[in-house]
Amino acid sequence: MMMPSRAIVVLLAFLPTITAGCGRTFTPGQPPVTLAARQSSSDAHVRLQWLGTSTWILSRGQDAVVVDPFFSRPSIWRVVGSLVGAEFQPDETRIRAILPALPESTRFVLIGHAHYDHLMDLGYYLRATVPRPQYIGSRTAHHILLGWAPPALDFVIADDPLRLGHPIRSGKVAVTPLLSQHAPHLFGLTFMDGDVPEPRTTPPADAWDYKVGRTLMFMVDFLGDQDEIQHRVFINGAAHEPEAVRAIPDAVLGQHPIDVAILCVPGWDKVTDYPTSLLDRLRPKRLVLSHYDDFFQPYLHEENPQQGMEFVMFARYPDFVERVHAYYAARREAVPVTEPKTGETICVSCEARP
Ligand SMILES: [Zn+2]
Repeated sequence: MMMPSRAIVVLLAFLPTITAGCGRTFTPGQPPVTLAARQSSSDAHVRLQWLGTSTWILSRGQDAVVVDPFFSRPSIWRVVGSLVGAEFQPDETRIRAILPALPESTRFVLIGHAHYDHLMDLGYYLRATVPRPQYIGSRTAHHILLGWAPPALDFVIADDPLRLGHPIRSGKVAVTPLLSQHAPHLFGLTFMDGDVPEPRTTPPADAWDYKVGRTLMFMVDFLGDQDEIQHRVFINGAAHEPEAVRAIPDAVLGQHPIDVAILCVPGWDKVTDYPTSLLDRLRPKRLVLSHYDDFFQPYLHEENPQQGMEFVMFARYPDFVERVHAYYAARREAVPVTEPKTGETICVSCEARP
């Protein structure tokens, strides 16, 4: 499983079709992205800000949840080169240019799975002294993070059966981890497949040290004064087979409707009935698309999917959007589908409670 997927990546790196769109250069000196979580920390609206790839900051007042922060975005050359000894560490210059520190109000950092585009920059944030959020991810993600010898690590191993389907609470936000799957990348293969069964003692040295581990998806609930759920956001970081959503307990779904579902686009055509089986079961009131920008290039602020955004390879983004709209058209349902620009903030509750 390992060698074929390595070989495919090496092969792909030399395909001119893939490298044709590469070459965007990083411009140091740009100001960090303005965070809705900081600007709007005194009002009661839930805001979702996309910072490219699977990176989201979900926030309301003094409760922020950061998902998969990733700004190093090494090129495909560097990913492949790491297999033959090229450096593969968090790029602090790039990280500081976009999100030098997690918001002070960060209660949780969620890790969808342990691939490098979800996990590697935590090697940077783990060293920060403030804030010290609770990390929620798989056992494999935990074992990889320990390789950085963090000064402190408050980590919930969420693929433990005792944790799955049960809320983890801090402040006025609760996160319920759910077991998911990871769609294959190509030819039925999932790159960097497998687990890390033992704690690491050194940071990952190459892209293949970031084994996928078990894949998670999350319900993020913002709570009211009586701890009732006021707003519920669902987020996944990988496309998956229908079994993953069928396995979500009815009791979890029955707690509150899903106000927003943030859905990973890439991989949608490598699994069955995605995202239609998910939409059938979750019935979200609003969809927000995610993870479709080309993360082999530096982050570009306000890159627009409808105006020239460079999509990650094999995403088939326009086909995915068409599929979603066809799904709702066939049901004569008008569910808003948001295709955010990088850096964009979506206010979940602003229209309902101006
Ligand atoms: Zn992945």
